[in-house]
Amino acid sequence: LRAKLFAAGHFTTTTLLFLTPLELAREAQLSNEEALSVLKLVPRSSSSSSSDGIISASSALDGAKTAWDLLEYEKNRKKIVTSCAELDMILEGGFCPKEVTEICGVPGVGKTQLGMQLAINVQIPVKLGGVGGHAIYIDTEGSFMLERALQMTKASIDELVLASSLSSPMDDDLIQQLDIDTYLSHIYLVRVHDPTEQLAVINNLPNLLKEHNQVKLIVIDSITFNFRQDFEDMAGRTRLLAEMGQKLAKIAEEHDLAIVLTNQVTMKPSNNEISRIVPALGESWSHACTNRVMMYWIDTQRYAHVVKSPSLQAATAAYDIDECGICS
Ligand code: ADP
Repeated sequence: LRAKLFAAGHFTTTTLLFLTPLELAREAQLSNEEALSVLKLVPRSSSSSSSDGIISASSALDGAKTAWDLLEYEKNRKKIVTSCAELDMILEGGFCPKEVTEICGVPGVGKTQLGMQLAINVQIPVKLGGVGGHAIYIDTEGSFMLERALQMTKASIDELVLASSLSSPMDDDLIQQLDIDTYLSHIYLVRVHDPTEQLAVINNLPNLLKEHNQVKLIVIDSITFNFRQDFEDMAGRTRLLAEMGQKLAKIAEEHDLAIVLTNQVTMKPSNNEISRIVPALGESWSHACTNRVMMYWIDTQRYAHVVKSPSLQAATAAYDIDECGICS
């Protein structure tokens, strides 16, 4: 019961205050009796509604930002680089905080490699022009390989050490930051096995972020796996995905961090009977992310194409993967 309440986002009694038993039963997939017994335990006196229930205009505008504030923020925000110059160029510098970006593509094209590379690159120290943050990596497919992460981390650190020692001697602080153990201990790996666990972990992210307030990147690799395998209730799936999308967008915004989701692809027949490769999870899910990047192959060359974005131009970059990770 507890797991189901957590999965539906109810960590305290406050969020249950205004629900009817039927609403709670539907939301948390409980029987009506179970929902009723849960709601009976909620202390009604803990209601925090204001005495007249009216929100004044000034309080409604508290926290509102002007266009000028936003412009200043845009100018100063640091992005997470990909290690491929051409890809960084079409992303105007890399993956953005406050945005949810989806990477789609066929198996083997490099989605996990890019996710791991970002979890490493988010840690590039501020002194070296990086974000200097930590990463949460939610692995739903069991594809995060520690040995590969180690190989990529070592390559990335070697490159940074070389570049920084060319310009000036490294101080103790920088030496401490450019350490393989430090890097690996700043990737918080969470393995999930089914849709309920996935939802529970996403609902619990705000608590995790309180503990780890230096997190600047969350990777979910993949968002799709648990929602494609044997998922029979398609209407329920659409509702759960929409809720998940909204929660992730809110977390990205409120915690000023980048969220990167990987998505699988599927074949969609079109009118002239030639099937097209499209991102999985359907039309309604396509609205859940800020940006969508499609990765694909032509012969042996890999490409990434910005398919959808409110601020980036539709553009294509060639990228590669070698023993060091993502590269040009
Ligand atoms: P996806 O997540 O899209 O299914 P991956 O991110 O797992 O795909 O990418 C797998 C590909 O990454 C492999 O096909 C291989 O080409 C490349 N790759 C993985 N490890 C290495 C390595 N050590 N050296 C070079 N290429 C690698």
